[in-house]
Amino acid sequence: MRAFVVDTATRTGRLAELPVPVAGAGELLVRVLACALCRTDLHILDGELAAPRAHVVPGHQIVGEVVGDGRRVCIAWLASACGVCPACTSGHENLCPYARFTGLDRDGGFADYVTVDERFALPCPPGRTPEAIAPLLCAGAIGGRALGLAGAAERLGIYGFGAAAHLVTQLARAQGRRVLAFTRPGDAARQAFARSLGVVWAGGTDERPPEPLDAAILFAPAGELVPRALAAVAPGGTVVCAEIHMSDIPSFPYALLWGERVLRSVANVTRRDVADVLALAARAEVTTYPLAEVARAFDDLRSGRLRGSAVIV
Ligand SMILES: [Zn+2]
Ligand SMILES: [Zn+2]
Repeated sequence: MRAFVVDTATRTGRLAELPVPVAGAGELLVRVLACALCRTDLHILDGELAAPRAHVVPGHQIVGEVVGDGRRVCIAWLASACGVCPACTSGHENLCPYARFTGLDRDGGFADYVTVDERFALPCPPGRTPEAIAPLLCAGAIGGRALGLAGAAERLGIYGFGAAAHLVTQLARAQGRRVLAFTRPGDAARQAFARSLGVVWAGGTDERPPEPLDAAILFAPAGELVPRALAAVAPGGTVVCAEIHMSDIPSFPYALLWGERVLRSVANVTRRDVADVLALAARAEVTTYPLAEVARAFDDLRSGRLRGSAVIV
């Protein structure tokens, strides 16, 4: 089969011919129909996220068909969790210390076939195409989880307006929130895209919003945005860092945190987070690429050319 293999030592990826994987006990072999690209995949390719293996096939937003019975399933970032630790038994399997992740600890979906622990092969909603569903599996699910952790904030700032942001904007607006979008300074096209999704204000990450925020979610991997977001939220407000990797956060005056502001991260997603977002009506704007051109999708994501989500089909 074809697969996009990342060599973690040289930080390069190439399309290679690999044997079709064999499903072990309790696993399913799945033919990949669509796999959406996430910034985490880019962090793995670029070596910003340490991979435990010399070669890895990334991709963790997979819609596929079970070989044998043709059942359609979704495969997300959480590939397995122990099920018995305090995190797992308290509804926080995303924090399981024994968790393994798709496209990092196990080979992922930028390939013709993938295997999955059958307990983590999630039901696929009917009536939607694989490419419409795939971006919801991480971008949508992380966005939904981050939105929940932002609390009841009415005025919500979103820093970094990519795949997750364009989905969470739709979820937040459906809940009656006012969304303010922060893009790279001067990125007028992305600010126009945000406005087309109904945000009340769009500007650069270097700008102060016209009104204080009740919460902010950071989807950009830039630590220098943390003090800026804290400065933009009102007392009692929350700043949620939703990236798996972020550059160092510069030191900042305590006054930015004072006033019961909360700074927190969101880590991974549970199966429940995925099911919850699949039940909602957010629609991804999708650019599709054939598997042979997956490297171009990585380049487009890195350069900021992508609007919405990239999906390999
Ligand atoms: Zn566990
Ligand atoms: Zn992801």
